[in-house]
Amino acid sequence: MNRFPLLVATTNQGKVREIRELLSGVPVDLLTLADLPRLEPPDETGATFAENAQLKARYYAAQTGMTVVAEDSGLEIDAMDGAPGVHSARFGGESSSYPEKFRLIDEALARVPDRPRTARFVCALAVADANGDIFDAQGTVDGQIEMPPRGDGGFGYDPIFFYPPFGCTLAEAGARKSEVSHRAQAFNALRAFLLERQARGIG
Ligand code: IMP
Repeated sequence: MNRFPLLVATTNQGKVREIRELLSGVPVDLLTLADLPRLEPPDETGATFAENAQLKARYYAAQTGMTVVAEDSGLEIDAMDGAPGVHSARFGGESSSYPEKFRLIDEALARVPDRPRTARFVCALAVADANGDIFDAQGTVDGQIEMPPRGDGGFGYDPIFFYPPFGCTLAEAGARKSEVSHRAQAFNALRAFLLERQARGIG
């Protein structure tokens, strides 16, 4: 089966690690933005995860001529009306640490003690090549916000994201995170798409 290069349009090492694992066994040569000369990132101006994923995939495909998979993901907290949402990475300021982000969330939730602590991670992915859009998919995982943070696996908001079926946070879930995560769902759909496409000799 022909291997072909696939550019993963992210520099987030936490995401790269998970995506490599999720696409293992698919006959593609994964490259990330770190493997290319630096490209100015596009402004993530989309109102939704899907719009941001699509604009990143189209932009990097046009810049490089490669087939590109881009993803946009984040945490929606119901008691904060869906925040931090598409601003998850920048919540609390570009350079704020995760302990700072957790403290801001704790304070915001303390102001609404009667609202439920339900939350979800969302991942939208989009694939494009120089001719335009090829594929898109979305995944979500539901849980609840619990303080204090627990666990040192995963990345980002995982230590405050309690996943009831496991009885622990996603930062405590180890390899089981990739059985249920928003990113796993979206990338499993991509995996099936790529395998089917290559079986038909396109790639
Ligand atoms: P993006 O790079 O603009 O898509 O920002 C995504 C941000 O959402 C990450 O930097 C994290 O803050 C958060 N996020 C997305 N997926 C996860 C996850 O699996 N665990 C924890 N935090 C996540």
